[in-house]
Amino acid sequence: MTFKGLYKVYLVLASFSSVHAATVNTPKVIERDVIIIGGGAAGSHAAFRLQQDYNKSIVLIEKESILGGHVDTYLDTSTTPPTPREYGVQVYFPYLDGLDFISRFNLTLLPGLGPRGSTTTRNIDFSTGLELPSTYTGPDPSSITSAIIRFHNLMVSQGWDKMIEPGFWNLPPGPQIPEDLLLPIGEFAKKWNITEALPRMYESTGGGPASRHRTFTDILTLTFLQSFSPAWMKVLYGQVGMYHIQGGNQLLYEAIHARLGAENVLLNSLVSSVRRPAENADDKRGDIEVAISTSTTSRSLHVSRNEPTTTTTSTTTMIRARKLLLAIPPTQENLAPFDLDSLESNLFSRAKYGRYGTAIVSSPVLPRGYELHNTPILAAIDPNKPFINEPHVLEFASYGNDSKLFSIGTSGSGLGYGEFDEREATKVAQESLERMVDAGTVKVPDGKEPGGDQKLKVVEYSDHGPGGFGVSAEEMKGGWMEEMYGLQGKRGTWYTGNAIAIDFSTQLWKMNDEVLRRMLESW
Ligand SMILES: Cc1cc2nc3c(=O)[nH]c(=O)nc-3n(C[C@H](O)[C@H](O)[C@H](O)COP(=O)(O)OP(=O)(O)OC[C@H]3O[C@@H](n4cnc5c(N)ncnc54)[C@H](O)[C@@H]3O)c2cc1C
Repeated sequence: MTFKGLYKVYLVLASFSSVHAATVNTPKVIERDVIIIGGGAAGSHAAFRLQQDYNKSIVLIEKESILGGHVDTYLDTSTTPPTPREYGVQVYFPYLDGLDFISRFNLTLLPGLGPRGSTTTRNIDFSTGLELPSTYTGPDPSSITSAIIRFHNLMVSQGWDKMIEPGFWNLPPGPQIPEDLLLPIGEFAKKWNITEALPRMYESTGGGPASRHRTFTDILTLTFLQSFSPAWMKVLYGQVGMYHIQGGNQLLYEAIHARLGAENVLLNSLVSSVRRPAENADDKRGDIEVAISTSTTSRSLHVSRNEPTTTTTSTTTMIRARKLLLAIPPTQENLAPFDLDSLESNLFSRAKYGRYGTAIVSSPVLPRGYELHNTPILAAIDPNKPFINEPHVLEFASYGNDSKLFSIGTSGSGLGYGEFDEREATKVAQESLERMVDAGTVKVPDGKEPGGDQKLKVVEYSDHGPGGFGVSAEEMKGGWMEEMYGLQGKRGTWYTGNAIAIDFSTQLWKMNDEVLRRMLESW
């Protein structure tokens, strides 16, 4: 279909819906070297490097109203002066020269986590609301550290780190993938005598693979390593530092946006249709055509009724480019407009993923200065097994005595992606809090009845799904990953992002370096 044809399809579709019919406009038509879809860590970095370092014209498409993806910085006005609170991506750590990217902006990196007052941990089983006995001391920190060092050394001595970091370029073909990497992580840990590291491994990966599985120890080791990489192990045992951006991690993405230029970033935008060259066509001609729909919401006063009205309008941009870079989770929903061929459909539809959310919450019932940690009562018998195998909240963590805010992390633990949304996560959090009140573990302030304004207030919620993208051991052996990487560059389309690489910002930036090198070579 020609570019013109694509536009005609858009008009026909628009005329079928009264909502869209009202929004049909003459689409803006632009030409660029590369269209990048997804403005998270991977997409924003790739867009910046293509434009600034490789002199390519770009346009970056993002469905949300800001860039940054998993980065969530909330400005806490309950303190004076207001304090930036991170409740998504917390820290950046060195991986090769990945951290140098941040120094290209006028930003200051400070060691450790972002501003958070000191807290005391209380271990509470949220399924009953009861606190664990005071004799419970948790897993032994020095045993955890030694086990993580052993894990790291194992990865290096076996050469497994080179197969997976920062992307899977050097992973052997399916049948030759080392059997150990295809074990469930629980069996892997037993085999290599690192079970003491499991509690830390579990806590550290709630946002990724752990949200997909009912039983944490069942996660495929290869998939698990995407969120628990050898480079991250070095941070955990203290060999390298970790850093946050002064003023908030979101500042990096504001700076990238400013440098890219407003005309090159389409926010609140979704792809509505795509035309790409056939697999064996000469993709140097530059005949990728993408229709983008951008929503703009405006509020005004309905004068005769004296009430505010909200109007959402949608505009269309038609983009012609030479290359397409996908930096979004490759779910079927996201890829539906992408004109997939049978190989692409087959590969992407086989992956599974889970859902995780983080939020900033408050409630007068939550004690400031404490981290209420969800620790199952069984951990009192075996502290090395603090795993929760049902949808849950990991913790209510105070930002310190001077703030009324708490951060929470929620996990769908084995529920399908569509079954665990913000509503479900909030319900799980609210019920956890109510159980703690009923059990007398946290106190309703004097003179107040439980319920009512004691309820959990969700100040901001951030959906971090889909996460933990992956397939079974059998499918890995059958060459799924190899075939996924084989798609790079086919039909003018390139892929990056956490679904197919190591899921940490600095490592994704190095993954990008390789993707861009190959893309530019193919120019
Ligand atoms: C809670 C949490 C905490 C984390 N903490 C850290 C940390 O401290 N340090 C660290 O290095 N890593 C951390 N990570 C890992 C993090 O995933 C990566 O660092 C990185 O942010 C992932 O970047 P990405 O671009 O691959 O994905 P994302 O950040 O998910 O970016 C994808 C982008 O695409 C957009 N998008 C999705 N679908 C569409 C669509 N159809 N059309 C247009 N746009 C779309 C999304 O809105 C998003 O902006 C954390 C992850 C989570 C979930």
